[in-house]
Amino acid sequence: MPLPRRYAIISDIHANIEALEAVIADANSQHIDEFVCLGDVVGYNAAPSECIRRIRKLGSKVVKGNHDHYCSDPDVNLDDFQPNAASVIEWTRRNISESDTIWLHGLPFTAAIMGFTAVHSTLDSPEHFRYAFDTLEAKDSFAYQRTRVCFHGHTHVPCIFRRASAGSEVEKLAATNGTLDAGNYFINVGSVGQPRDGDPKACYVIFSMMSLTELSVEFRRVDYDIESAARRIEKAGLPERLITRLYTGQ
Ligand code: ZN
Repeated sequence: MPLPRRYAIISDIHANIEALEAVIADANSQHIDEFVCLGDVVGYNAAPSECIRRIRKLGSKVVKGNHDHYCSDPDVNLDDFQPNAASVIEWTRRNISESDTIWLHGLPFTAAIMGFTAVHSTLDSPEHFRYAFDTLEAKDSFAYQRTRVCFHGHTHVPCIFRRASAGSEVEKLAATNGTLDAGNYFINVGSVGQPRDGDPKACYVIFSMMSLTELSVEFRRVDYDIESAARRIEKAGLPERLITRLYTGQ
């Protein structure tokens, strides 16, 4: 594929169609060549089939998130889940078609895209959906990273982990825009449909590859119709806490 190339990296949509549409519109206004989705298309919000349809239409690479797994695999036993979480998963299972269920179930855990990697959680055991909040957890993932850059989601909190060289310590940097210096990067793109960093605006990343070595990231925050998303949750009878989170971004 010819360079330069611009990717919109989106994650944790969580059945929030209002946020997803706003992010797609914003990305298209930024002259994106391609979308990449890091999973959790469903769960928490109340428009799962709309989001699956929209993502499938984008024709982007998609990797599997834990909610995609729970909602598409009837063998996942919900007894150990918190009642609120279990009720949303059960509701989602009932509200997506068989074809959507098969599609979610068949998603891969990781994807190699031109010169970079996509995963929902971490590369050391992507099927166990571990959280990478700190440098120790990121270090485990770096051990399995074969590309200079890997994008992930899962925590809903955008940030940048950097390792200057194979033997050096991993550092955690704030989610700031700019060119990537030398070293390897494990970058969390935040969440489209349920941000948890205190900013309720939808979050995603534009990754620009000017050449194979000249790379930059831009974290974008996008306003969307939270009220409409909240009304859907209410109408579906899903837990009220899911509405509050959208407004507070926590
Ligand atoms: Zn998620």
